[in-house]
Amino acid sequence: MRKELSIHNFKDLLEHFPLRHIDKTNVDKIGSIRLNDEYAYVAGTLVDMTLVGEGRSKRLVAHLKDGTGIIELVWFQGINWVQKMLQPGHLYLAFGRLGFFMGKPQIAHPDIEPYTAQKAGGKEHLEPIYSSTEKLKAKGLNGAAFAKFTAELLHKIAAKDLPENLPAAILQHYKLMPRYDAYQQIHFPSSEKNYRQAIRRLKFEELFFAQLRINLIKLERHRFSKGWSFDKVGDLFNDFYKNHLAFELTNAQKKVLKEIRKDFGSGKQMNRLLQGDVGSGKTMVALLSMLIAADNGFQSVLMAPTEILAQQHFNSISDYVKDLPVKIGLLTGSTPAKKRRQLMEGCADGSIQILLGTHAVIEEKVQFSNLGFAVVDEQHKFGVAQRAKLWKKNTLPPHILVMTATPIPRTLALTAYGDLDYSVMDELPPGRKPISTFHRNESSRPAVMDFIKEEIKAGRQAYIIYPLIEESSKVDYENLMKGYEEVKSFFPEPKYWISMVHGRQQPEIKETNMQRFVSGDTQIMVSTTVIEVGVNVPNASVMAIESAEKFGLSQLHQLRGRVGRGAEKSYCILLTGNKLSRDARERLKIMEQTNDGFKVAEKDLEIRGPGEIEGTRQSGALNFKLVNIVADKAILEAARNEVEKLLENDPDLSMAENLLVKTYLQQQQHKTGWGKIA
Ligand code: ADP
Ligand code: MG
Repeated sequence: MRKELSIHNFKDLLEHFPLRHIDKTNVDKIGSIRLNDEYAYVAGTLVDMTLVGEGRSKRLVAHLKDGTGIIELVWFQGINWVQKMLQPGHLYLAFGRLGFFMGKPQIAHPDIEPYTAQKAGGKEHLEPIYSSTEKLKAKGLNGAAFAKFTAELLHKIAAKDLPENLPAAILQHYKLMPRYDAYQQIHFPSSEKNYRQAIRRLKFEELFFAQLRINLIKLERHRFSKGWSFDKVGDLFNDFYKNHLAFELTNAQKKVLKEIRKDFGSGKQMNRLLQGDVGSGKTMVALLSMLIAADNGFQSVLMAPTEILAQQHFNSISDYVKDLPVKIGLLTGSTPAKKRRQLMEGCADGSIQILLGTHAVIEEKVQFSNLGFAVVDEQHKFGVAQRAKLWKKNTLPPHILVMTATPIPRTLALTAYGDLDYSVMDELPPGRKPISTFHRNESSRPAVMDFIKEEIKAGRQAYIIYPLIEESSKVDYENLMKGYEEVKSFFPEPKYWISMVHGRQQPEIKETNMQRFVSGDTQIMVSTTVIEVGVNVPNASVMAIESAEKFGLSQLHQLRGRVGRGAEKSYCILLTGNKLSRDARERLKIMEQTNDGFKVAEKDLEIRGPGEIEGTRQSGALNFKLVNIVADKAILEAARNEVEKLLENDPDLSMAENLLVKTYLQQQQHKTGWGKIA
């Protein structure tokens, strides 16, 4: 039992919650079992019981018959024990997951017990059904045995053994069932309604303590992590803001900038996640923040996940600040030795105020005279090890701003990232034209290619994207090559020129191909998802995505963000085969319907569930026993509010009314693997 279901103690047994309940006064007629029924609960006479097969295929087959039909029961393990227990001619109740063999119903390893009159007939009687494993069942520990143990345990314990852990005011306000009652009722409910109340109570508890832990970690960090204080907004910032900024900041940009300035002045180290949809103008926020750092005598680094992106940041930022007395450097893996030496000197003597680049900027050899701020673009490529390197660059850790264009739904962010401070930019600069997105079948490919020709004729450029699920997958690679040939047949040289990039190329070749597209030498970019992150070619107005059903929604949204960056109306065409699952159809429809990355992410979460969403850390924060953060959003928000209120009034949990909470939290502390954030 230990190994198989990780049940080690009584508490674990109580938390082995039933899968569902069945009303044992209400057996199914065997004759009315249907092919898509999942479970059956039947009563009848055991007609026969025979051993069939030899060796590994040996099994025990029995039949149970009521007035309406006959059902097969089969055991592959624990055969001796079953043979001893059951006698043909007697009446039994059997329950289990249905299988169908040649259209006939069958239950493998059913929960089976002698039929008693009191079991059937009488008032509503909900019995719990527990999961077990084949191994445990073979030892007699089936679902029914779990029911028996749990019933005995619940009978023995008193209310004091399962003490309340939520404050009375909360119980009252949300009309939550007391904890002891909830455990009784979730296993052996006296009514359907009580069962629902028990579930609600235990979900609230689960979310409340998850939020409490995460918020305590955050509080702790705020209290103890000393950081540089950037007290003033100086000449660089003011001059730039007043005289060189070509556009008005969006309200979202202003709001986030304010949040960052507050952190900068707090004397604590900032650890902030900035989420903003593709094109929302995160780079500008980063730049303005770096100017504040420079105004206070501190250096900044900005790290991008690829050379191309680092180069792009360098180009756009150099251009923004070309009239300001601020020195900027670009350091990547391919920076030549001599240039590298110069850059490193500039960082060490403080003459370079802003260093942009790839991970190369935090290599050990790069020393700073006074590093105070680090910006990380696209967080999921940035790990704990990188953070640790940053920490060593100065006597106090630098402020950190992590920027991501992969929107994460709020519910998920609260659970997975609740320990970080977190800002959202949910507004695009004015004047952006929404990208028109269409789903088309393969049969429309020629028409789609003709459409691309029209766009190219009008001077635009186009992306054609192929799925590369795994960088190393041979099949995907072959598809890409086939696709490339096909594209070439539609767009022959020398009228058209095509760039191609993929993960198997040498970096220099990839770089050259990219550059040719960026400069407009090629009109078409055939690529895999390596193009996904942040590449900026404003003249590209159309993107076709092949086998679009193979991509996640958030990924499609990221890809789509490569177009619609210029003044022209842009298009995204999702190509798929004719046969599509309902799920896939639904996902593609969402892409057609909205351009809002947060809405896309929200839907993605609903369809695929939290485990699959990119950008969420594999943290204990998402392992819930009862809660489903999509369906239980309302409870999550309520628990979150209560936790915030509670910590605001009583951050040390020292008030009498929060004693229950504190005691429970301390008991739990050793059980969870929640580390501190890096
Ligand atoms: P992302 O959030 O995807 O990194 P960028 O920072 O690359 O977005 O910005 C996208 C484009 O929008 C850039 O060309 C940038 O100059 C422009 N931009 C940023 N902020 C504004 C604004 N407030 N008004 C108009 N254009 C803006
Ligand atoms: Mg960006």
